[in-house]
Amino acid sequence: NYTLGPSITRWNAQRRQWMSQNPGFPSLDALGKPKILLVTGSPPGPCDNPAGDHYLLKSTKNKIDYCRIHGIEIVHNMAHLDRELSGYWSKLPLLRRLMLSHPEVEWVWWMDSDAIFTDMAFELPLARYVASNLVIHGYEDLLWKQRSWIALNTGSFLLRNCQWSMELLDAWAPMGPKGSVREAAGKVLTASLTGRPAFEADDQSALIHLLLTQKERWMEKVYVENKYFLHGFWAGLVDRYEEMMEKHHPGLGDERWPFVTHFVGCKPCGSYGDYPVEQCLGGMERAFNFADNQVLRLYGFRHRSLASPKVKSVANRTATPLEAKEAALNMTTKIET
Ligand code: UDP
Ligand code: MN
Repeated sequence: NYTLGPSITRWNAQRRQWMSQNPGFPSLDALGKPKILLVTGSPPGPCDNPAGDHYLLKSTKNKIDYCRIHGIEIVHNMAHLDRELSGYWSKLPLLRRLMLSHPEVEWVWWMDSDAIFTDMAFELPLARYVASNLVIHGYEDLLWKQRSWIALNTGSFLLRNCQWSMELLDAWAPMGPKGSVREAAGKVLTASLTGRPAFEADDQSALIHLLLTQKERWMEKVYVENKYFLHGFWAGLVDRYEEMMEKHHPGLGDERWPFVTHFVGCKPCGSYGDYPVEQCLGGMERAFNFADNQVLRLYGFRHRSLASPKVKSVANRTATPLEAKEAALNMTTKIET
């Protein structure tokens, strides 16, 4: 029977004790906010489509930018830590390993390589989550009434570093082992969930199935978020960025200025996606440049258009750079187009 590793017990107490013995690794940052570790990853080898590697790099640059601006640490994993849990399942052993190796981290935040931060000013409303251990984008009615396989999205979610999360990962993993187990579990998931095509078990369907079948055990600590786009489906967003820049400003995080644009169903790196690869790459270019404008603005530049990697200067050169810096830092004002 598959397990992620020796079962962890009393992790909350172990963490607390470790922190009291290691005051050099505080769990709060300099501003008093709980420490967050953003975790992403990509396959160990090159993409089948070389353009895919270029977009993986852009996606990682985008995450580094967001994390630098907000004081979040980042890990990019390219190793397969567990032979059985490959592909989209690899986030499970990775998150577990990182929580155990970084007891000072309060939240680990998984983000897919095909998800881009598109609101560089938005900050997680952590105060809402004090009583929760898993924060995930989704809709309760899709979950409970429709049993939809897209009720929740596992492309971007937060997991608290605690005993509950260790137990959740243990309960979530058994459908993951590659081969016959994953194939058979896929049939169970397709039969259980609405709208799910027939394919091997994936981590998102498995989580939804687990929460549906063991509601009492888990839901008290699960926060289903949809007040902002912790995950935002790209198809409805990428064509509207110019309109957003005209009407709104960064910092909103919702449909007016989406926090995250996630290219679900696109596989620019390889294999077969649900959309033409040109449409996916074009959308990613726009999402990346839309976000990058919010970063370049700090330095007085912006992209010539959302389709262009070329930039132009927008600020006059000045002998009083610190005054200009104050203005640029105010990201929640409208961006000039
Ligand atoms: N991933 C990884 N290593 C792999 C394959 C996938 O770290 O070998 C990560 C990567 O960040 C990817 C995520 O797992 O975005 C989800 O996998 P996949 O791309 O297959 O699914 P999708 O993003 O299309 O839902
Ligand atoms: Mn994805």
